[in-house]
Amino acid sequence: MKQTAHIAILPGAAISHLIPFVELARRLVLHHDLHVTFLIPSSNDHPPSDAAKSLLESLPKPNTRTIFLPPVSFDDLPTATASTAKIALTVSRSLPSIHHVLKLMLDSNTTTPPLVAFFADSFAIDALDVAKGLGISSYVFFSVNAISLSMFFHLPKIDEIAASYDFLKDLPDPVQLPGCPPFHGGDLFSGVQDRRGVIYKKFLQFSKRLVSGEGISGIVVNSFVDIESEAIKALQEEKTGKLTIYPVGPIVQTGGQHDEEWECLTWLDKQPRGSVLYVSFGSGGTLSYDQMTELAFGLETSGQRFICVVRKPNTQPPNATCLSPLEPLGFLPNGFLERTKGRGLVVPDWAPQVRVLGHGSTGGFLSHCGWSSTLESFVNGVPLIAWPLFAEQKMNAVLLVESLEVALRPKADEDGLIQREEIAKVVKALMDDSNEEGRMVRDRMKDLKDSAVKALGEDGSSTRTLFELASTLKTMVAN
Ligand code: UDP
Repeated sequence: MKQTAHIAILPGAAISHLIPFVELARRLVLHHDLHVTFLIPSSNDHPPSDAAKSLLESLPKPNTRTIFLPPVSFDDLPTATASTAKIALTVSRSLPSIHHVLKLMLDSNTTTPPLVAFFADSFAIDALDVAKGLGISSYVFFSVNAISLSMFFHLPKIDEIAASYDFLKDLPDPVQLPGCPPFHGGDLFSGVQDRRGVIYKKFLQFSKRLVSGEGISGIVVNSFVDIESEAIKALQEEKTGKLTIYPVGPIVQTGGQHDEEWECLTWLDKQPRGSVLYVSFGSGGTLSYDQMTELAFGLETSGQRFICVVRKPNTQPPNATCLSPLEPLGFLPNGFLERTKGRGLVVPDWAPQVRVLGHGSTGGFLSHCGWSSTLESFVNGVPLIAWPLFAEQKMNAVLLVESLEVALRPKADEDGLIQREEIAKVVKALMDDSNEEGRMVRDRMKDLKDSAVKALGEDGSSTRTLFELASTLKTMVAN
């Protein structure tokens, strides 16, 4: 009989955290014969979405299964509770059911391969104690990159440096993390910007836990050596003897996008090769009303083809009453849709992103620099315009623009607004074949695509690392 092992996975309660976990599981099952059980936490105001269910259903059977944990209640929380806090709370309030399910899995080891390890999302670190209490080895899957992991490892030190500041953005000198480009304080993870907040304290606690390595056997990072060699090396050297760092990326979505007809894909079929700029701000990013107006005019005056995924702006315009269910795109400038008809396509809320980026007509991506979007761009060789919004996206933008040189970045004015002229200029630079700055970025992205393919190839660095991880897990069965 083939040697195998069983792992339990607890993703964070957000679709963008589930996607890389599902793909990691797919590889462990298909290439390493592991068995995987997903434990899905949710809350009464945020049940598992159809997209999440469809992703989970796309996993190979019979060696994967999904257990939906009972939804926790948020009825006691103030309505303004931040979504990052809710993601963390969904897990901490699910701890009793996580304990119950893991215990059942341990007890049923006679019927399935033995449960050897528990993999938790970085937002689910509270659950590591549950696994530890049951004697199960734990791993953290850090679905972003090594520079962000490095920031979390060094947050206790950053906290000391920033002792006399309330906000990291006010730090006078750039923060130098080992093997990373220097970051301005304001570019560090948005959740730790305000040192006075409860969320800051939670992340500091998380960081101290990482540094101690207590109850953690290893950290799996969704990155690869070629793009972050120095940051990965520094992490591996600093952590020697405590826990192992496994860079296994780029892990990007391959399944779970409905086969349904998407208007944007049929529209792309009719466009010239490499001519379309795809614009998206991730699974939840929104712009202000003014910024949305500037973006629309910038795209219009750039004269380039585009697909733009739009959401209602995050601050109500003074004339908000004009927005009605009959006018779902009423926040766009008057006449914008008519004037750009044929050259541009507006997609409300959600597009099949991996299919858009993999389409031959797509030649550029204006992105909020979410890490999954970034990796999806790498594997498809699509050059970027970096427009970071929150979380670790500003750090990613620094990596993309300054270290890897695969993105152009529009400049904001002193009020933080990116003006239409600036947007049009950067869009033209990226998409116009004759533009020298754009050409450099496009060429660098082609090289990066080759590196990504190599990392995942038969003898690639990430393939070898995943093999090492799977072998360690299988060895645990014997011990
Ligand atoms: N995504 C998508 N369609 C959309 C927006 C996002 O398929 O319209 C997917 C995208 O392909 C990526 C994920 O959602 O896999 C977004 O993750 P990312 O880390 O880029 O950003 P986040 O949503 O966490 O800000």
